[in-house]
Amino acid sequence: MSRTLGCVRVVWNQVLNWRKERWAKEGTFGSYRDTSGYLTKLKRHPDFEFLREVSAVPLQQALRHQHRAFESFYAKRSNFPRFKSRTHRGSATFAKTAFKIRDGQLHLAKMEQPVRWVWSFDIPVDELAVSSVTVTREPDGSWWAALCVELSEEQTPEPPEPTGKAVGIDLGIHTFGTLSDEEAEPLEAPDLRRKEANRQRYQRRMARKRKGSANRDKERKKVARAYRKERQAREDMLQKATTRLVEEYDTICVEDLHIAGLMKNRRIARHIARMGWSRFRRLLEIKCERAGKRLAVVDRWEPTSKRCSNPGCGFVLDELRLEVRKWTCPGCGARHDRDVNAAKNILAAGLAVLAGKRGSAAPGALPNSAVDKACGAYVRPRGLSPPRQRAAKQETILSDEVNPL
Ligand SMILES: [Zn+2]
Repeated sequence: MSRTLGCVRVVWNQVLNWRKERWAKEGTFGSYRDTSGYLTKLKRHPDFEFLREVSAVPLQQALRHQHRAFESFYAKRSNFPRFKSRTHRGSATFAKTAFKIRDGQLHLAKMEQPVRWVWSFDIPVDELAVSSVTVTREPDGSWWAALCVELSEEQTPEPPEPTGKAVGIDLGIHTFGTLSDEEAEPLEAPDLRRKEANRQRYQRRMARKRKGSANRDKERKKVARAYRKERQAREDMLQKATTRLVEEYDTICVEDLHIAGLMKNRRIARHIARMGWSRFRRLLEIKCERAGKRLAVVDRWEPTSKRCSNPGCGFVLDELRLEVRKWTCPGCGARHDRDVNAAKNILAAGLAVLAGKRGSAAPGALPNSAVDKACGAYVRPRGLSPPRQRAAKQETILSDEVNPL
C-alpha cells in the first residue's frame, strides 16, 4: 500500500510539473486526455518503471483528481493545485475494476493478501453495493478505507417525520450552538483542552529533536495523531448535532457565518471556531435537503444579541458587552440569557427570510408576520419610543476588519 501511495504521489507531482511547463511554453495546462497520454509515456521511461509494479487504476484516478483540482481552480473555487509531500496525507482510489469484497474481506488489485481491517458499521460489508474504495494514510501513519456506497431502497433510511417545530441557532465560541428552544440541550463542542495540551507538549518535544532524525519523525507522528484525534472529535460532534437538529425540527435558522464571525469579536478563537461553523453549515445544508427540511440563513445586519426577543417588545440595547451573559430588558422587564435571546431573534429573522419578506437591516423592522409566526400574537410596544438605531454605528467599525479567511 505504501508503494501504491508513493506512486500516486509521483504521478501527481510529475503530471503537475509537466502541466506547469506546458503552461510556460504553450500557454495551456492541457486536458485530461493529454495527461493520460503523458502517464503512458512516463510508465515507459526507464526511470519510472516502478510505476508498473502497482495497480494502474489508482494512478489513473490521480489524474482524474488532479483534473478536478484544475477545474475548481478555473472556476475560482480553490487555489492552484499543489505538489504533494511525503509526510502529508496520501491516498489511492480503487475503482470497481480494481477491488473485490468477499466474505467481509477487501481484496485490492495487485495485492497478494486481503486487507486486514476493522469494519466499524452494523451492516455487513457484503450487503453493500460498493462503487469505489479510497485508502488513506494519515500523517500519523494510521490507515483508513473509505467506501463509496450506493444504497438500495431498503437500505436507505426513512426521512425523519415532520415535527412542526422551528429553531434558531446562535453559534458561539464557548457553547458551540445555543438553541432558541429553551427545553432543548445546547450543542456542546467536544472538550478538546486535554487533547490540545497533549499536542502542544508533543510539539515542544519535537522542536527539541534534530531535524531529519528518527526521533523527530517519531514526535512528528505523535503531533499528527493528536491533530487527527481533535479533528475526528469535532467531526463526530458536528455529524451528531446536525442529525439531531434535522430530526427534531422542520425549519432551522442560522446566521450567515461572515456576520456571526464578525459579531463574536474574539480574534484567534473566532478563526478556529469558524472552521467548525462552515462545516456545520455545510452538513446542515446537505441533511436538510436530503430530509426535505427548511434551512434559513440570516444574512442581514441584525442586532441579534442586543434586541429583546419578546414579540411584544423588540427593545434594542445601546450596548451589550461580551462578558454580560444575562440581562433584563428595560422595555418589558423580561430576563434574557444572552445567547438564547440571540437565537430567538435569529429564528424570527429566519422565518421572515422564508416568508419572502426581506425586511430591512434596521432594528425593530422585522415584518410583523414573521414575529407572528415565531412568537404568537404581535403586540405593538406601547409607551416606548422606537428603538434607536445604534447598530449601524457598530457595523462600520466591525466591517473595517473584514475577515482575512
Ligand atoms: Zn423587552
